Amino acid sequence: MPPITVIKQTVLSWQQQLRAVRDLMPLHLAAHTDQADTSAVEQAHKLFATRAPEAFLNRIAPGDPNDPLLLQVLPQAQELVQHDDFSRDPVGDHAAIKADGVLHKYEGRVLLITTGACAIHCRYCFRRHFPYSESHIGGQRLQAAIDYIKNDDSITEVILSGGDPLTLSNGHLANITNQLNSIAHVKRLRIHTRIPVVLPDRIDDGFIDWLAHLEQDVSIVIHANHANELDDQVLSTLHRMHQTGTVLLNQSVLLKGINDSAADLSALSQRLFECRVIPYYLHLLDRVEGALHFDVDSNTARDLITTLQKTLPGYLVPKLVRENAGHTSKSPV
Ligand SMILES: *Cc1c(COP(=O)(O)O)cnc(C)c1O
Ligand code: SF4
Repeated sequence: MPPITVIKQTVLSWQQQLRAVRDLMPLHLAAHTDQADTSAVEQAHKLFATRAPEAFLNRIAPGDPNDPLLLQVLPQAQELVQHDDFSRDPVGDHAAIKADGVLHKYEGRVLLITTGACAIHCRYCFRRHFPYSESHIGGQRLQAAIDYIKNDDSITEVILSGGDPLTLSNGHLANITNQLNSIAHVKRLRIHTRIPVVLPDRIDDGFIDWLAHLEQDVSIVIHANHANELDDQVLSTLHRMHQTGTVLLNQSVLLKGINDSAADLSALSQRLFECRVIPYYLHLLDRVEGALHFDVDSNTARDLITTLQKTLPGYLVPKLVRENAGHTSKSPV
C-alpha cells in the first residue's frame, strides 16, 4: 500500500499575514506586467514601500497588466513625475493637527491618527507623505488626545483613522474606546479602515465582540474601489460585522484606469449592497505628489454620476466630493 501523505495546511494568523506584507518586493508584482523600466519601479518603491496582503494579491488576475487591483498597489515610473498642482500635503492636514494624533477640521467630529501603519499601500494615498512618526497616538500620547476631546464638548463624534486603526490589537482598541467612554459628549464612534477588504482574517472573534459591546453608536467606513476587491470571504466578514448592529459605509477614490467607468462604479455599488454596505463618498483624487497618473477630471466624474443616477436606486449612488484644504467640510462636486 502506498503511504498516505498528510498535507499540512499552515494557516497564518492575521498578525503573521500583516508582517508578511512588509517583505513584498515590487518586482514580484511587476512580473505581472512588462514594465521595461525596473529601476524607476524600484525608485517609486523606495519613496513609498510596496505593500499588500496575500488575500488581496490573490484577487488579481494573473498576467493582466491592467488588473484594477494590481494597479492600486504596483509602483509605477509615472509616480516620479512632478506637477505644480500635486503637493506633499494636498488637503492641509498639517494645519489641522490640534494635539498629538488629533486632526480637527470639521465641526463636531475629530479624526484620531491611531497609528501610521497600513496593511496595504495604495499608490494614490493622500497620506503617503504624512509624518506619522511625529503624530500618532501610540503609547504615551493617547492621553493628550483624550484630554483634547474631553475639553471640547462640541465634539460629538470621534473617528479612528490612521494609517489603519485595525492594524492595532483588540486590546489596544479597547484601551482607546474605554477612555472615550468617560466622555459624555462623544455620542458616535466611527472607524475608517480598509482592513475588512484587504485582510479579512483580521476580523476575529475578539474584534466582533469588541464591536458588539461599544457604548457609542458606531459606524465603520470601509474603503473599496472595485467590485473585484469584494470576494466571498470579504462578503461573509462584512455580514458578520453588520450583524453586530454596526452601520457599514464605503468610500472610494475615483481612479483613472481602475474604476473610471459607469459599469465599474455600478458593479461596485451593487456588490457593496450585497455585502450590507452603503456607498458613502466617491472622492476625486487628492492631489498628492506621485499620484498624477490616477487623476480623473471633474467633468468626467460628474458625467459618471449622472449615468449612475439613471441606472441605480438613489441609495447606491455615492456622493461625489473633493477635499479642499481649509474648507469646513468635504465639497460636493
Ligand atoms: C473627511 C474627514 C472627516 C469626516 O468627514 P465627514 O464628512 O463627516 O465624513 C473628519 N475629519 C477629517 C480631518 C476629515 O478629513
Ligand atoms: S489604506 Fe488608506 S491610509 Fe492606508 S495606504 Fe491605503 S489609502 Fe492610504
